[in-house]
Amino acid sequence: AIDFKWIRDNREDVAANIKNRNSNANLELVLELYEKMLSVQREVEQLRGERNVVANQMKGKLEPSQRQKLIEEGKNLKEGLASLEEDLLRLTDELQQEAQCIPNMTHPDVPIGEEECSVLRKTVGSPREFAFPIKDHLQLGKELDLFNFDAAAEVSGSKFYYLKNEAVMLEMALVNWTLSEVTRRGFIPLTTPEIVRSSVVEKCGFQPRGENTQVYSIEGTDQCLIGTAEIPVGGIHMDSILPESSLPLKYVAHSHCFRTEAGAAGAATRGLYRVHQFNKVEMFILCRPEDSDMYLGELIGIEEDLFSSLGFHFKTLDMASADLGAPAFRKFDVEAWMPGLERYGEISSASNCTDYQSRRLGIRYRSSEPSTSINQKKGKSNAPTQFVHTLNATACAVPRMIICLLENYQQVDGSVVIPEPLRPFMGGLQCITSK
Ligand code: AMP
Repeated sequence: AIDFKWIRDNREDVAANIKNRNSNANLELVLELYEKMLSVQREVEQLRGERNVVANQMKGKLEPSQRQKLIEEGKNLKEGLASLEEDLLRLTDELQQEAQCIPNMTHPDVPIGEEECSVLRKTVGSPREFAFPIKDHLQLGKELDLFNFDAAAEVSGSKFYYLKNEAVMLEMALVNWTLSEVTRRGFIPLTTPEIVRSSVVEKCGFQPRGENTQVYSIEGTDQCLIGTAEIPVGGIHMDSILPESSLPLKYVAHSHCFRTEAGAAGAATRGLYRVHQFNKVEMFILCRPEDSDMYLGELIGIEEDLFSSLGFHFKTLDMASADLGAPAFRKFDVEAWMPGLERYGEISSASNCTDYQSRRLGIRYRSSEPSTSINQKKGKSNAPTQFVHTLNATACAVPRMIICLLENYQQVDGSVVIPEPLRPFMGGLQCITSK
């Protein structure tokens, strides 16, 4: 349920927003298709009306010649209607397809411009000082026998990896620790399907097709591998009306993520930094529109707590308009210091998608306003429904967390200390040493 009327009535703001967000959406075409669709819709309604008139006339007493005439008329109307209804379906499809590309509107405080215009919101800690020459995670992994990239390249291709020995325990510990921390804060834990319908991917605001798609499609089906648990979690309440009393709904989902990383050449791609498959724990909230700003704050707070507990040095950034992607109204990224790579790297992202996904997925809620007397008797509310707001945020994307842990906690003797919170999840292991 994209609000085309709103888009038409606010075309200048929508056009400026498309520009600010570096989107390739074609607003003119969307509006043109919308007008065409409306006009065909009017014609369809007109013909349906005429057909009903004829059908009613047929019920009366008629001369044979009159009846014959009406039968002819009815037949012509039916044929005309069938062809118009086909046009309407085609136009609606085309309109939906084009309109999928129109990005969400943008929070008024979002800095306008490219990624470098993003505004620093918070800095936690400072880069650890090392009194010895440091190694990057690739070298540490090699010396401690934690990865196998060569075999993965043979078996799967580039940007795949095997984790080995303590790295496997570390991955599990990160996932389990994060799940327990986030469920403790009232989130419902989930694991999800990792293959979903392309239509759901689209409704969440991602492009499953095209040259630069990040999404792996499964040949011969209408299904894709998920790039993030946000998609199956967003889909859970698709086409439903939630009672207001059930909101907010807070989920924390663990899944694998699959990304083609099309167009990522040239970006930092060493080792675990940018891979095709990884484990992630993702938070997702469905809430009332008036609460979504607040919950974005809560999600960032949780991320910052988690990364602080692990002793990372990081920055939180209010991301600039061109870096928001299609669904986000506002987005905060966390960039952590990776000493071996000698740079900050994005480890998480929290977005308020307002009603962008819920409109497409059809997720509404009914307010618990006092109901009218008739409905009260049936115990039902007849209050109007509204679209919920959706938010998503990374709690733990494993590969970059492993980079941060290995590079930050390396010791002069080449070992790596396990931060305190993860130890109970690794059978008490305190340190990874060479075998
Ligand atoms: P996104 O869903 O794109 O906001 O990504 C969420 C988080 O997943 C990022 O902050 C990264 O930590 C991680 N991530 C995204 N893409 C990759 C990738 N190709 N390889 C490893 N980690 C990734």
